[in-house]
Amino acid sequence: MRNNSDTIGSVGMKKRVEILAPAGDDACLDAALGAGADAVYFGVDAGFNARARATNFELQSLNAVMNKIHDQGRRGYLTLNTLVFDHELSQVRKIIVAAAEARVDAVIVQDFGVARLAKSIVPTLRLHASTQMTCTDRPSIELAVQLGVDRVTLARELSLEEVRGLADLAPVELEIFAHGALCISYSGQCLTSEAIGGRSANRGACAQACRLPFDLVVDGVERELGDRAYLLSPKDLDASRIMPELLGSGISAIKLEGRLKRPEYVAATTRLYRLALAAALGEGPEPEVSDQELSTQCYSRGPSLGFLHGVDHQSLVDGTTCDHIGIEVGTCSGTSVIGNRTWLRLRTHHRLALGDGILVQGGRAGENELGGRIWKLRDANQDVVEVHNSQDLWVWLGPDRPVNGDFTGRRIFRTSLASLEGDLRRLNSDFLSKIPLQARLAGQLGERPLLSFEMPDKRRVDVLLDHPIERAVTTPIEYSIIREKLARLGDTPYQLADLTIAIPEGTTLPLSSLNRARREAVKQLATTLRCQHSVAYDFDPESLLNWPTCKPLEGGLFVTCRNVAQARAVLEAGASGVYLDFLAITGLGPAIRELRSQFSSPIGIALPRIRKPGEEKIDAYIAGLRPDALLLRSLGSLKTNIIQSGCPLPDFTAYKPVCIADFSINVTNTISALDVLSRAIGAFTPSFDLDAAQLRALLDSPLGAYAEVVLHHPMPLFHMEHCVIAALLSDGHDHRDCGRPCDHHVVSLRDRKGVHLPVEADIGCRNTVIHGVSQSAADQASALRGAGVKRFRIELVRETSNEARTLVAGYLDLLADRCPPHELRTRLKASGLPVVRGSLRVIG
Ligand code: SF4
Ligand code: SF4
Repeated sequence: MRNNSDTIGSVGMKKRVEILAPAGDDACLDAALGAGADAVYFGVDAGFNARARATNFELQSLNAVMNKIHDQGRRGYLTLNTLVFDHELSQVRKIIVAAAEARVDAVIVQDFGVARLAKSIVPTLRLHASTQMTCTDRPSIELAVQLGVDRVTLARELSLEEVRGLADLAPVELEIFAHGALCISYSGQCLTSEAIGGRSANRGACAQACRLPFDLVVDGVERELGDRAYLLSPKDLDASRIMPELLGSGISAIKLEGRLKRPEYVAATTRLYRLALAAALGEGPEPEVSDQELSTQCYSRGPSLGFLHGVDHQSLVDGTTCDHIGIEVGTCSGTSVIGNRTWLRLRTHHRLALGDGILVQGGRAGENELGGRIWKLRDANQDVVEVHNSQDLWVWLGPDRPVNGDFTGRRIFRTSLASLEGDLRRLNSDFLSKIPLQARLAGQLGERPLLSFEMPDKRRVDVLLDHPIERAVTTPIEYSIIREKLARLGDTPYQLADLTIAIPEGTTLPLSSLNRARREAVKQLATTLRCQHSVAYDFDPESLLNWPTCKPLEGGLFVTCRNVAQARAVLEAGASGVYLDFLAITGLGPAIRELRSQFSSPIGIALPRIRKPGEEKIDAYIAGLRPDALLLRSLGSLKTNIIQSGCPLPDFTAYKPVCIADFSINVTNTISALDVLSRAIGAFTPSFDLDAAQLRALLDSPLGAYAEVVLHHPMPLFHMEHCVIAALLSDGHDHRDCGRPCDHHVVSLRDRKGVHLPVEADIGCRNTVIHGVSQSAADQASALRGAGVKRFRIELVRETSNEARTLVAGYLDLLADRCPPHELRTRLKASGLPVVRGSLRVIG
């Protein structure tokens, strides 16, 4: 038996990682496919995707879009990754059915209810958990798996080391973002746009509030920060240079952000990662500097590794920019006037050409910034078309860009490249990424041999040749001829990689038979890419509504407190119970003992909102204090809810705290709520993404009795891995070398309207930027009580004991019908505690 193998491109047995590119519209889809994306993700205009502002695709065109993707041998994933409301579930259902009929390869979801619905209607449909789901540890991944998810896109705040640890044990594929814009907040946890303008980031309508300027206020005094104003605007992610590390982390897919970006960005970035991946797999040379620059040139706020190498509070946010700057190309050395033209003079070490865009960096928040296209270039007193390096280059930006002022010493960026489109066309025209096939031809003398083609994702087709293997009369068929015939994949999306031949020595085959088999195998490959789904068209969503059988929890007014003085004050004022929300968790033990010695009311504890690998011990420590109730705030703690899965404490059986799933679990519809309640949860707090009408609609059912509604709180706007305090009050990179300024200072950010936004750090050094004015649901209290809601909550941040007492007394009067909502607002305002409607406002 002859047994030969050969490798073209040496893809061999190495694990292939998918390059997943964004497609905000048809042009971007073409750009992604042309530049070699293995898969693309996109939304439809029917809504429910995290980029509502992208052009997206018409639902009716889904079939055509998927055919185009599959014809190219690629995969297409539909984004359905927003929170949805009950009245929208029928529309979501239509999209799920359309997705199955169009044979999308996966649907990307955030909402528990959408996942449950999709899996029930189309059990074979693959689901990917969006990064919006905030999966940060193994239990959160397991929870996603319970919802039917096949792949999890991890939170962008995880380091590669943490990702590697998760990938070792993950029961599903993991995907990470490697390129593009970063959110300053954990995705799925940003409530800023909702609180400020009623535009929910969890509904794809983020207003980019993190890109606005802020002042820093420390202990009540504004701190001078020079040109730094964009204190929450992170640089963009660019991990193309660390591709071997990405591969080593055990992930299955590398995602590129950018469904709002232009096709040039999609083409350049996809191409860059394709090249970097090929180099890391030993299939091609390293990308050149120009490949890197093309991508950066299309869109970049300055490249960074985000959190992939761990936190670095000094490097993530530069503070001087909030928008695209492109590539830094030099420094301004002054100006010169010739006639009526003022020329900028600069030193540059980069290529600059006529028509390129440049930006001369301004002062704070872009003050006196200058930008425009290059109209004229002079080097060594000569007019030139382009220059690559110059110590005294003169640039004129045209009549509409007068140069006033002194720009000496300012950094200069090239924001656009006149030749960009041409460069990309040229590079991509000879850059066609093909899918590598593992081929095998095997058979015995006198039998028809079997030709197998296998794709990297293990999809395989087997085709029997229409002619048997014969003994060679003269010359046996040569290996190289078989390879040459099977490698004829010219205008297909495939290329032959490995070829194994297992046929007897001294035999031959008709070449025409080999050709026919190859063509048939290619045809069948296209079919294998189109997954067949069986759709339960008559599925009744009501069947997902498994109402709880346990009794609802006791009602009352509960208060989250940041210190023991607040807790004492609110319990004295008549609160039904407290949750100690001591972010740093220090002092919890003495506090719980002190309060128990004075009050008989239940004392609960709020768990951190993010739980990374290794941080389960915080939950275990808190459980060890035996609070009467636990506010579960992360998917990880929801999954490992100690009632459900047991606690590693010796006499745990006697300990039965009440567990409440908090707002950060993002419940906005009945299916999600019931899923959460089915996990031994006594009550849930609806997402803060619901406005007043949506809140009433959700709770006007048996669910109302299982809800705990927040009546009064300042909205937690951004919840961040980035520590603003360490970044701006120290030179430290993380908690080990920051000197802990958080212990000594009270820090706030002041927004453009002059509102002070408190910044609070938790045990994991995660910062929450909190709204400076509380919002009140007082107007809704009566309707909610009518719907059966019995548990209400007030959340405190920096209120004094007296203010805390005033709030509790006021809301107790409201709930006892002793004080109508408008009177309560007046009372609170008179006590220096004004309220707004905030996210409860009903818009449109
Ligand atoms: S951090 Fe918030 S405001 Fe900023 S981009 Fe992300 S979702 Fe939008
Ligand atoms: S110790 Fe304090 S200042 Fe330092 S990183 Fe942690 S939260 Fe920030």
